[in-house]
Parts: sequence; structure tokens; C-alpha cells
Amino acid sequence: MTLDAVLSRIDETLPQALDRLMDLLRIPSISTDPAYKADCARAADALVADLASLGFSARAAQTPGHPMVVAHGGEGRRHILFYGHYDVQPVDPLELWDRPPFDPEVQDTPKGKVIRARGSSDDKGQLMTFIEACRAWKAVHGTLPGKLTIFLEGEEESSSPSLIPFLKAHKDELSCDLALICDTGLFEGAVPAITTMLRGMAKAEFTIRAASRDLHSGMYGGLAQNPLHLMSRLLANLHDEQGRVQVPGFYDDVDELPDTLRQQWQNLSFDHARYLGDVGLSVPAGRLPK
Ligand SMILES: [Zn+2]
Repeated sequence: MTLDAVLSRIDETLPQALDRLMDLLRIPSISTDPAYKADCARAADALVADLASLGFSARAAQTPGHPMVVAHGGEGRRHILFYGHYDVQPVDPLELWDRPPFDPEVQDTPKGKVIRARGSSDDKGQLMTFIEACRAWKAVHGTLPGKLTIFLEGEEESSSPSLIPFLKAHKDELSCDLALICDTGLFEGAVPAITTMLRGMAKAEFTIRAASRDLHSGMYGGLAQNPLHLMSRLLANLHDEQGRVQVPGFYDDVDELPDTLRQQWQNLSFDHARYLGDVGLSVPAGRLPK
């Protein structure tokens, strides 16, 4: 079978694949800290070299920030783009780590084997699964599995300032029929997930102007508007008692959750209490499923 041989190849070469991931994890590509700029470039270059060795035409494209890894290869009717990121979160506070964050190690835990290192689960581990899948396919079939673009940024952990300008500037090159994001996780433990939606982010900035100077509470307290009170009222009014967003127009383009999807989610038996309990919480927020 076309796929079985590839899966066997992946299993047989797991130790080497793990070594390659460990090499990538050793590079401290912290994008938020300028002190690690050269390390970010080094991570990008290492990925470019690896992708080139698989037959991709790969480059580290410069941006005002950290480079983008862009690699094209293979042939096929449909163009598939894989997105991931090679940068990682900062590691402070260091004393809370039980080992150096850029000295990766496979550890046995009550939940099974884990790779302990910064970036192992976000996102170097995931992005390497794509690259290793391509490597195994190529070893078995002699070609890449389709018309592929691998697109890895180095600024995801610092709000991706170069991403949208880069996408716009390279629109033709990066337009594809299907984009896969590998910056996601398992549903739980060993339960895999196919993530079909991701939450976005909305920002707003408010300026509250109040009295022109510091006021004495005995003279103006209760009479003058207090900016902190106004701010807390603003925040409190963002949601109603049921957790519904109260910003006018917020739900205009939001489709109602289809019953079939709601049913599928309920069948997963997500344990709110345990999920929140892991972080010391017991009272859930947000909109609860009906
Ligand atoms: Zn990520």
C-alpha cells in the first residue's frame, strides 16, 4: 500500500527523526528577545538546509523581523501549504525548569514519554512531523507527496508583525488550494484532534479622560467621575450574565453552532471540572454549551 510503506519507514527511522528534532530544539530561537536574533536566523537556516536536502527549493526570506522559511517542492493538481513557526516562548523564570530548556531530553512521566524542552510542543515538534512525513514519503516513493509549500515563520510568539505584510507581498507564490496549520495540539492525552477552527483576537484601546489633576477624596470623592470605576464598568459590560458578548455587531457574521457539531463536541465528554482543576480553578467562565 502507498501509505503503509511510508508509515513503516517513519517507525523504522524514528530514532533519527528524534535526533533531528532534538537538534532543532537545541537552538534557542526566542523571537521576543533581540539577544536571540542570531539564534532565530540559525533555526531558519537549519530548516532551509533540511528542506533543501529533501528536494525543496527553500530559502530564508528576510523581513524587518525574523526570516520566513519558504520552501516549494513536488508536483500535483492541488497546491497544499503547511504553516508552522520555528520561534519559541521566552524561558523565564528559569528556576522553575527541572532542566535547561534548550537541552532536550526524553523523559518518562506518569502520562507516558514526553520530550522536555522549550518549543517541543509549540511548535517545533509539530512542524517536524510534516517534514518527517515528507522525508519518509520521498524515501519510499522517490518524490514529494504533492505540490507543497512549507511556510514557517519566526515571529509567532511575538504577534507575527511581518506575517501579513509578507503574505501580501508574496500573494501569488503563497496562494494555495488548502492550508494546514500545524500549530495545534491533541484533544487530550493520546486522543488526536483535527482542528478546523481557531479563535482570533480582537483589540481595542480606550482613553478615559477625567479630572485635570489629582483630587482629594474628601473634596471630590463620590462627585467626580473616577476613571477606574469607568474602566471597570466598561470591562464588566463586555459580557452579560450568560457570557454572551455585548459588543454591538459582534455576532453579525457568526453562524449558530449546528446541532450535529454540538453533538460531536458533547460526545467527546470534555471534563470542564478536571480541565479547570489542573490550573486551580473551579468556576467556569465564558459561554457554556447548552
Ligand atoms: Zn505555536
